[in-house]
Amino acid sequence: MEGLKWRLLALLPLLASVILFYMKTPPQKPSHSECSLLDHNDFWISSKRIVTPKGVISGAVEVKGGNIVSVMEEDWQENVGTGQVIDYGEAVVMPGLIDVHAHLDDPGRTEWEGFPSGTRAAAAGGLTTLVDMPLNSFPSTVSEETFELKIKAAAKRIYVDVGFWGGLVPENAFNASALEGLLKAGVLGLKSFMCPSGINDFPMTNAGHIKEGLSILAKYRRPLLVHAEIQQELEDIADDPRSYSTYLKTRPASWEEAAIRELLTITNGTRAGGPAEGAHLHIVHLSDARSSLDLIKEAKSSGDSITVETCPHYLAFSAEEIQDGDTRFKCAPPIRDAANREKLWEAMMDGHIDMLSSDHSPTVPELKLFTDGNFLKAWGGISSLQFVLPVTWSYGRKYGMTLEQLASWWSEKPAKLAGLDLKGAIAIGNHADIVVWEPEVEFDLNDSHPTYVKHPSISAYMGSRLSGKVLATFVRGNLVYKEGKHALAACGVPILAR
Ligand SMILES: [Zn+2]
Repeated sequence: MEGLKWRLLALLPLLASVILFYMKTPPQKPSHSECSLLDHNDFWISSKRIVTPKGVISGAVEVKGGNIVSVMEEDWQENVGTGQVIDYGEAVVMPGLIDVHAHLDDPGRTEWEGFPSGTRAAAAGGLTTLVDMPLNSFPSTVSEETFELKIKAAAKRIYVDVGFWGGLVPENAFNASALEGLLKAGVLGLKSFMCPSGINDFPMTNAGHIKEGLSILAKYRRPLLVHAEIQQELEDIADDPRSYSTYLKTRPASWEEAAIRELLTITNGTRAGGPAEGAHLHIVHLSDARSSLDLIKEAKSSGDSITVETCPHYLAFSAEEIQDGDTRFKCAPPIRDAANREKLWEAMMDGHIDMLSSDHSPTVPELKLFTDGNFLKAWGGISSLQFVLPVTWSYGRKYGMTLEQLASWWSEKPAKLAGLDLKGAIAIGNHADIVVWEPEVEFDLNDSHPTYVKHPSISAYMGSRLSGKVLATFVRGNLVYKEGKHALAACGVPILAR
């Protein structure tokens, strides 16, 4: 024992010098070979199906220093010279998906998800940019100080680019300097709730708060995103809490309709010449495709600056199919009946719903209460991030959805909402954010499928057969994911609005 002690003591100077070395050496920026699975910085990607704003072309995209520097059709070979070409044959080359509604729960609730697992899942799913929500992390992102914590948490831990929404809450809504501090620090816009959010440090706002917030946002030309449900009086519901229909009754479509009706009394000010001109309101995760959607359509045609998203789970599932106790499907607003789902698809195809987002909102399996299966008490939120591309494609094909529509809903429109001028399309000058995937390849999403979110078992998509396999994901020209392999280092960039 004594001998061991002396030997350990003898090692102390060595240990001290190692610590000193690391203290003196500034943290190294990851090398190119750590950020990318590809040796080259400058290369061409060729394919017979490249989705561009001008349609699907056969040709090649030239990438240099992280940007797209040319997009060429048939005769591209003559221009390549000795350049490196990655030929993807018939696989689809498309702008990377931009998810404007993800809850990564970092800092503070990393046992739910966290930046590393969330962004690795994103990369594997063909998403190249996420915009993180201000709640479910702790503390909520509602001030300049809490935003700093968020940026710190993301530094060197994100595998794709990540932007951030700030929170509009009663505490900051009438405090212009606080809100401006948050906007100047770089949030891409604000998010608020018209009903309890389920998170204590993110209280709900009323129309007064929203009006005030919009007037500040107008100056910065950044959007306000709103969870549009207002609680209404309910008759006593004494039904079985394990039955999905019970949960559905607790959040009827009239809640969405009431919220949207109230919002539209504010958004009419955003019309040309109106007092709130320059402001923009975005309704998140619309579920009701009936009266709520009609109201939005009307406001749009009157010139209100308003957009709306829905999520793949409202397009994939219907209330009738959800089994008793299967709380993986609980989210708010709830998944409604099959006829409503048909109407949502109709609105997608007709362009009345502008875009899609995941609303990836995971938790720990314990809070899903699988043993009790109590829909009224379980955490509400659907885990979906890695699978939104194959899910959208698998269900949308039946409605005649095209690759151009897919790129518009998942890249072009979200980029526009978040003010990401250099993202959202395969076009010269844009970031080389690209997904390569095979729409025709089917797979079973089960335990043996490689998944990268923290808790794959809580995903409502587990057990599905899907179509669309992601082959490769490029973020700013870095090959961050290739068939089951990720780049070594997290080289995604936090996106700050300026
Ligand atoms: Zn959400």
